[in-house]
Amino acid sequence: MNAQKRQQIFARFQAANPHPTTELVFASPFELLIAVLLSAQATDVSVNKATARLFPVANTPQAILDLGLDALTDYIKTIGLYKTKAKHVMQTCRLLLEQHNGEVPADRAALEALPGVGRKTANVVLNTAFGQPAMAVDTHIFRVANRTRIAPGKNVREVEDKLVRLIPKPYLYDAHHWLILHGRYTCKALKPQCGQCLIADLCEYPAKS
Ligand code: SF4
Repeated sequence: MNAQKRQQIFARFQAANPHPTTELVFASPFELLIAVLLSAQATDVSVNKATARLFPVANTPQAILDLGLDALTDYIKTIGLYKTKAKHVMQTCRLLLEQHNGEVPADRAALEALPGVGRKTANVVLNTAFGQPAMAVDTHIFRVANRTRIAPGKNVREVEDKLVRLIPKPYLYDAHHWLILHGRYTCKALKPQCGQCLIADLCEYPAKS
């Protein structure tokens, strides 16, 4: 795909949705970090349901530690892999207090050192909480980048690096959200809605309908 087409694609995404954001509900970098940590292999809807009950009771590292593992587990038990996630949240809260004064660090290496926080989670937090042009490639973005040929790659890291390099700079901060939403609601895995797609004429997917 050439640079001009890429430019047109993101201009259209921006015109259709000028201020995109995550569908996870959060009110602070800490709440976002916990919500993203809980969202691995789970839907945003299921995470929002759990955090709507949890955050009013505990939305700081100290408050979650005070709550304790059993109570935390109870709050998040409707989310997949909740037992492991509860342990990671407790360990992460402890580390945030011990090493970062209870604050979420705006630094990739420090984020990735937290239990349960991988590159994807760190990218979401850097992008959405701290306004950095990081690109968290999930299954939707991976599919859209490859199908459209915006940034084809064999693995997640290759696609991430290409997107960061190839997306025109003014769009890079919001691109993460536009691509996820496009993959979630239009360029779906099994049945892409090409008839209603706002970039259909620019997409290079050979099987587009
Ligand atoms: S035209 Fe179809 S395949 Fe291409 S981006 Fe749109 S929905 Fe996806």
